[in-house]
Amino acid sequence: MSFKSLGLSEPLLKAIQKKGYETPSPIQAKAIPPVLEGKDVLASAQTGTGKTAGFTLPLLHLLSDNTAQRHRPIRALILTPTRELAAQVFANVKEYSEFLNIRSTVIFGGVNQKPQVNKLSQGVDVLVATPGRLIDLENQGVLSLNKVDIFVLDEADRMLDMGFLRDIERVMKLMPAKRQNLMFSATFSKDIKKLAYSILNNPVQVEATPENTAVEVIEQKVYRVAKGKKTGLIIKLISDGNWKQVLVFNRTKHGANKLCKKMISAGITAAAIHGNKSQGARTKALAGFKNGSVRVLVATDIAARGLDIPLLPHVINFELPNISEDYVHRIGRTGRAGASGEAISLVSADETTYLRDIEKLIDMKIEVEILEGFEPDPNASTQPIKPGQNRNQGRRRNSNNSNSGKSKGSNSDRNKNRNRNRNRNNDSKR
Ligand code: ADP
Ligand code: MG
Repeated sequence: MSFKSLGLSEPLLKAIQKKGYETPSPIQAKAIPPVLEGKDVLASAQTGTGKTAGFTLPLLHLLSDNTAQRHRPIRALILTPTRELAAQVFANVKEYSEFLNIRSTVIFGGVNQKPQVNKLSQGVDVLVATPGRLIDLENQGVLSLNKVDIFVLDEADRMLDMGFLRDIERVMKLMPAKRQNLMFSATFSKDIKKLAYSILNNPVQVEATPENTAVEVIEQKVYRVAKGKKTGLIIKLISDGNWKQVLVFNRTKHGANKLCKKMISAGITAAAIHGNKSQGARTKALAGFKNGSVRVLVATDIAARGLDIPLLPHVINFELPNISEDYVHRIGRTGRAGASGEAISLVSADETTYLRDIEKLIDMKIEVEILEGFEPDPNASTQPIKPGQNRNQGRRRNSNNSNSGKSKGSNSDRNKNRNRNRNRNNDSKR
């Protein structure tokens, strides 16, 4: 199997070669042919399997077949849930289209809209966007989606988790009814299937990994530890192991900041990445982490979603996520592209239920270890932390489910909006 045999054009093959890709990844091999045929496609494969090129390459091929437009309307829209992901997908679009006469740009919130507006006014073929800024600029009349031929929903599962269902529905109304739709997702839940039915027409369904399984090359381990000893333990693990590049997950922004400070006082270079950080700070933290000047990146789930950090050797869950699927996403940050990796979780008594749910989802028991001096507290309660104090993502998830589940039911629009706003508020903690 080669990229050439998939039928991609010469300029694309040249860009692929420049990128250093030798063969298509499994999901690329499965998704590219039906996309080239103009079909709607629903694709799922775990994080890090090359889904971006799976839709971008054939999309560029299709668009470049027909570039004799005088003024350039937006002909392809790629919707992604977070700024980082949008920036990353855009970087890929630019690389893959280097030898084509295709213009592209990216828009997302949290930064001044003016440069984005300028870019749009020059005409672009491919637009990568997050929902909020897209709808905002459309409302302002800065852009129009009425010439979109290809619509891509990337990281569809996270879109739903983040409460973007209503925004997705709004965006769909702005595009012509007749278009090609592609949906890419790391997981494949009932909600995703439902969304797929409402967006896709007779989709070809492709899948490169079994649903919701944690990759086998990732070594997983749990340290049972008293809550108050987690910081000491994580510093010990990183120092003793002399780990150079560690991604640490925290449930809250506040927790991420606090842990980051403690690391720095312990002499470990660290940076935090979460929704309260400015775009500049986030980009800088990620760049430092990638080039090795920052050893530890402390992230919340939403900020880390879709980050492309190649060959990450260590992921540590400072706290377990209470949404089990998030665990699979988190550990998907390690062992990327077939390289082996290690995923460690620090688990205190109150996280016992989360651990059990995760083990149920991945259908395996994770090896448990206890380190001397960092034992669990035998008197601590195994009750999960009460929702409300930075811990209400369980409710977020539930309200999401009811949100999407009842979208055609009795809920009034106002109720749904309230749900959505509540989702947003809870997300703002991460
Ligand atoms: P996903 O969206 O599935 O999480 P990405 O599209 O971000 O994954 O790709 C993950 C990494 O794999 C990126 O660094 C990308 O450049 C690389 N990659 C993609 N396709 C190939 C390929 N065919 N061969 C080698 N590396 C690839
Ligand atoms: Mg992706």
